[in-house]
Amino acid sequence: MRGVPPILLVHGGAGAWRTFRNKMREVVTVLRNALRSGYEVLGSASAIEAVVEAVKVLEDSGILNAGLGSVVDVRGEVTMDAGVMEGCGMRAGAVAAVTYPRNPVVLAKLVMEKTDHVLVVGRYADELARLWGLQKHPGPAKRVLERYSELVKKLREGEIPFKRFKKNYFLAKQLLGSLHDTVGAVALDSNGCLAAAVSTGGILMKIPGRVGDSAIPGAGFYADDHAAAVATGIGETIILSFLTLRTVSYVREGLHADEAARKAMDRHTKLFGEGTAGLIVVDRDGYFDGIYNTEGMPWGYIAKDSGDARVLGLPNSTSSP
Ligand code: ASP
Repeated sequence: MRGVPPILLVHGGAGAWRTFRNKMREVVTVLRNALRSGYEVLGSASAIEAVVEAVKVLEDSGILNAGLGSVVDVRGEVTMDAGVMEGCGMRAGAVAAVTYPRNPVVLAKLVMEKTDHVLVVGRYADELARLWGLQKHPGPAKRVLERYSELVKKLREGEIPFKRFKKNYFLAKQLLGSLHDTVGAVALDSNGCLAAAVSTGGILMKIPGRVGDSAIPGAGFYADDHAAAVATGIGETIILSFLTLRTVSYVREGLHADEAARKAMDRHTKLFGEGTAGLIVVDRDGYFDGIYNTEGMPWGYIAKDSGDARVLGLPNSTSSP
């Protein structure tokens, strides 16, 4: 697909969405709201401001696996990862395993802007969130705790096998018929700058201290002067394939964003199988796409020539209209 800049894309996570059909209408509304808010920002500010605004709306929705809706680890606690990257100037900021901020994506942006570092983790990142006056996260959402209790019961009763430290991403694949809806955004502004932002509660039932792809530039997010991409899915596979860096590199080598995404996802699927990942990408020439090897990945876009926000990627629909 191709659009006239400025262009903004968002997604609500790659996963087993069929199980959650009843949630679809809400998700579509939330994605549209995120696109509209982000696009308003994109009218007067740069791509990085727009992607952060869009992801903030998704974090605040409480119905996706990020910010207020974040899933919990094996202890039933929320720890979140987030990252942002700006192609103009090649700057990035990320946080991992944070518990304090309501909007980890804002903390990631502040790490990029206010420190000399790219990635700050755990309680030290939480201290920065407090220091910079960010709003505090209220703790796990009710629907997340209910799902957690259900799973703990199934694990206790032996209905689902659980190996605490080994091959948990296969377990995640089984469990993620449930909550698997990390959020992300990419944008191309009218000055030709590209940006990416991502935020997640990670994988449900992860062990404490686990960090996923969303905190790692090149894995869960990447932007340079050619393209910006954000990934979702089982973070362990995305880290191993460096999915977003690979996609952006294919664009640098001459492919359009949609072709690059397909090539990177084909490789990813060959390595790790179906049901493992999805991504959204936009390039400096206005080509873009959302692609996934899972049942669904609600994603949407808005461009100067697209009219209002459009949402695609629902189960049983195609990734490209
Ligand atoms: N990629 C995220 C993680 O592994 C999860 C997701 O995309 O839903 O932390």
